[in-house]
Amino acid sequence: MTTHLVWFRNDLRMTDNRALHAACEDPQARVMAVFIATPEQWKQHEMAPRQAAFIYQHLQTLQHSLAERRIPLHYHQCDDFVDSVNWLKAFCASEKVDALFYNKQYEINERLRDDALEKAVSSDVLCHAFDDSLLLPPGSVTTGEGSMYKVYTPFRRAFLDRLTESDSRSLPAPKARNTQNDVSLHRLTPFDFPQQSVGEDFPVGEEAARDRLRTFCRETVQDYLGQRDLPAEDGTSLLSPYLAIGVLSPRQCFNRLRTECPDVLERRDGGAFGWLNELIWREFYRHLLVAWPKLCKHQPFIEWTDNVSWRHAPQDLQAWKEGKTGYPIVDAAMRQLNDTGWMHNRLRMIVASFLVKDLLIDWREGERYFMSQLLDGDLAANNGGWQWAASTGTDAAPYFRIFNPTTQGERFDTAGRFIKTWVPELSHVPEKAIHQPHRWAEKQQCVLDYPAPVIDHSLARKETLAAFESAKRRN
Ligand code: FAD
Repeated sequence: MTTHLVWFRNDLRMTDNRALHAACEDPQARVMAVFIATPEQWKQHEMAPRQAAFIYQHLQTLQHSLAERRIPLHYHQCDDFVDSVNWLKAFCASEKVDALFYNKQYEINERLRDDALEKAVSSDVLCHAFDDSLLLPPGSVTTGEGSMYKVYTPFRRAFLDRLTESDSRSLPAPKARNTQNDVSLHRLTPFDFPQQSVGEDFPVGEEAARDRLRTFCRETVQDYLGQRDLPAEDGTSLLSPYLAIGVLSPRQCFNRLRTECPDVLERRDGGAFGWLNELIWREFYRHLLVAWPKLCKHQPFIEWTDNVSWRHAPQDLQAWKEGKTGYPIVDAAMRQLNDTGWMHNRLRMIVASFLVKDLLIDWREGERYFMSQLLDGDLAANNGGWQWAASTGTDAAPYFRIFNPTTQGERFDTAGRFIKTWVPELSHVPEKAIHQPHRWAEKQQCVLDYPAPVIDHSLARKETLAAFESAKRRN
């Protein structure tokens, strides 16, 4: 009897999992699964304890779902990738594994690890790697000269052409196996990692994720363009935590969208296309990461921006992290992040711009802090978002695009509903004054229990422009 081993990584789901599906194709094969946790590595990369908890919860449900199909899940904790390779090699030998199936991860260290593993087991184990976490694999959407696009809009155009030709069907979950296998459910040892619970906003499980996707595509997506920038509304899908650890696949998203909105590709001014556009941003940032591995090392895409003289301002950085900058929209957003592990996209742009362009603090500080808090932490999307906000990335807009945090608040949270949810100290401030509460307090001659602005936006703006100009000149 042949033995197939599925190595689960960032693909914690039964349905539409290409590696799992392929491993189960031979009905005679004994199929086993494995997950390797690397808490030491997670600590180094500042993974959010919430995200680790979310992974752990999903491993437990995965263990049950696999057991129902007579596939045992083995689980191991290792220090780092070198240990993972050694452990997996020994495991394959002891279980007489004939073939290993896994879905590719595209970050540089993960790719090096997989190369090392394939070499280490090459004489005994056949390795099958799948492109699974994207609609189209990196390297498949290129310019006429065969290189990766540096700008999003032409990438999207080419992407959509390729997408319509590609096979993006979702695969069903495998059926129960007939083969003998010990599937007794051992308790999975909790990760050797700081604990932090995941809030109720993000229920565990593939079914919960798929339900959310279905409801969103049926009920909300049509209004996406009008609602997606308003943090006080439930206008976005809240699916990012599931996509980030692979509880849901982008093909499932795309196919559900097509089922509910069959004209999504034709009606490009509609909400459904607007949502697909965001899924394509997700693809874009991953394709970039593979084409420019320096992004995995947190180097800027535009090299001269490394000359910017960032401020060393630990107190300001701390105020930003804690949501105590004195700018209500920034503070509300940071508190949402700290409390729930999720932040609305518009707010991510605002707080990132504030850290980099108002406080003139190195974008990598923000990138790192986000990773340490986000339930949907994802190297490619996070790095892409931060480099976009910092004007160090591929964005076509130049460095002098600087958000004004007050007018951003006025525009996207006009009545201050979102602010009042997260900054209760301002609950008594009238709507009209909510974005500049200190001015109002001055007029009222009252004292606010809320910090004064850490910085003057118009002065900060000038200093930032000067810092970028000088960095560019030094290039
Ligand atoms: P929806 O609006 O419903 O979008 C659907 C899906 O598309 C999302 O779940 C996500 O997978 C993807 N998506 C949406 N917007 C983007 C985008 N701009 N870039 C890449 N993918 C996108 N997203 C992450 O998943 N992980 C991160 O670590 C992350 N860090 C970010 C940091 C900054 C500074 C910025 C500006 C954006 C970041 N984003 C990140 C992108 C975006 O903010 C989130 O994906 C989005 O807010 C998730 O909410 P949602 O699922 O309701 O999104």
